[in-house]
Amino acid sequence: MTRTILKFGGTSLGSADRIQSVAKRIIEIKKTTKEIVIVVSAMGKSTDHLVNLAKELSPNPAPREYDALLSTGENVSSSLLAMTLIGMGHPAISLSGIQAGVKTEDLHMKAKILCVETKRIEASLSEGTIVVISGFQGLNKFNDVTTIGRGGSDTSAVVFAASLNCKECNIFTDVDGVYTTDPRKVTNAKKLKSISYDEMLELASLGAGILHPRAVECAKENNIIIHVRSSFDASEGTRVMEVNTMEANKSVTGVTINEKEAIVSVLKVPDTPGFAGLLFTRLGEKGINIDMIIQNVEEQGNNNISFTVQSDDLDAAAAIAAEASKEIGAGAIKTDNKIAKVSAVGIGMISRPGVAAKMFKALGDANINILRIATSEIKISCAIPKADSIKALQVLHDVFELDA
Ligand code: ADP
Ligand code: ASP
Ligand code: MG
Repeated sequence: MTRTILKFGGTSLGSADRIQSVAKRIIEIKKTTKEIVIVVSAMGKSTDHLVNLAKELSPNPAPREYDALLSTGENVSSSLLAMTLIGMGHPAISLSGIQAGVKTEDLHMKAKILCVETKRIEASLSEGTIVVISGFQGLNKFNDVTTIGRGGSDTSAVVFAASLNCKECNIFTDVDGVYTTDPRKVTNAKKLKSISYDEMLELASLGAGILHPRAVECAKENNIIIHVRSSFDASEGTRVMEVNTMEANKSVTGVTINEKEAIVSVLKVPDTPGFAGLLFTRLGEKGINIDMIIQNVEEQGNNNISFTVQSDDLDAAAAIAAEASKEIGAGAIKTDNKIAKVSAVGIGMISRPGVAAKMFKALGDANINILRIATSEIKISCAIPKADSIKALQVLHDVFELDA
């Protein structure tokens, strides 16, 4: 092979020993691959430590400074890995996102990558140097460092694959592939050989932390195969790709849980046009993703509007809702962050009626209360009490026979 992209996640780089193992693995791959680009995450849980430090000193950290801080984690990994490779006798260079030419939107903390100016990467590759790039970061038009959202170095890796004309992007992580559900939560989860972009995108968006959803989106758009594999052994992993089975043989391919969900409700909304538009426009402007919207008609012509958000966005969403509510004379804001969202995903459900009924009945039989429901062509999601998360995951994994 002439060129490849290899991304190593936090756990794979969590200690000096692990960085050495990763370096040896890269050197093995270099024997058969001329040009290697490595994308790295921050070591272990170091981004979480930085987040906690920031919050200790400033409950609402200034976004520019927050990004300046969080981006340092990846720079630690890239420089340590590059110096390890050099020490082992292999020319390598670390590049921050800025040095690697990553340009992003202005928005801090969840900026989208606009393009990569690859000149510097190409120059190093043509000299035979292994290029080690800090994932998760870029530069906006004000010359400020941005970060692209938690878990975002998967997306950086796929963007580099697209920008450097690679057909495959290797994501090395602490499990050996994509499973029917999180193997750390359900012990009989089964490894998948391949999974379609659409199913992986739904699973990732609905909480399967194995891949950043935007990485899957970018791979689909650019027809790049993502190979998710173990950083600890050389086994084949799971390929995320266009899967050409004539007909899916199961209604459900995977199940997932998102425990970082919260509900915001606006009470007593006057029944006049415009409020939903106003509220959701403002939330969108702040980059807050909304899911599971419900509007109930109450007595006396008032409505309640409630929606779910990621719990990280709860405070910001509640503040925006309170302001909008005040402007139009609606009532109080209620929030609840003791919920989770369990989802079943599968292309096969398009042609098989009764999947939703089976899911609701299984949850009901297990005495799990369904608080909200959302569906699309290939997914069914239920908001449930957070305390029932793992039980619900196991119940759905069993009822859809995913270990078979
Ligand atoms: P990295 O640090 O390499 O980016 P992550 O922690 O982001 O690793 O992702 C790997 C984790 O994803 C696994 O340890 C596993 O617990 C979790 N995971 C969630 N859903 C799945 C799934 N369907 N298949 C495999 N792993 C999953
Ligand atoms: N280090 C960042 C995070 O923890 C990015 C990543 O791991 O992909 O969110
Ligand atoms: Mg990750």
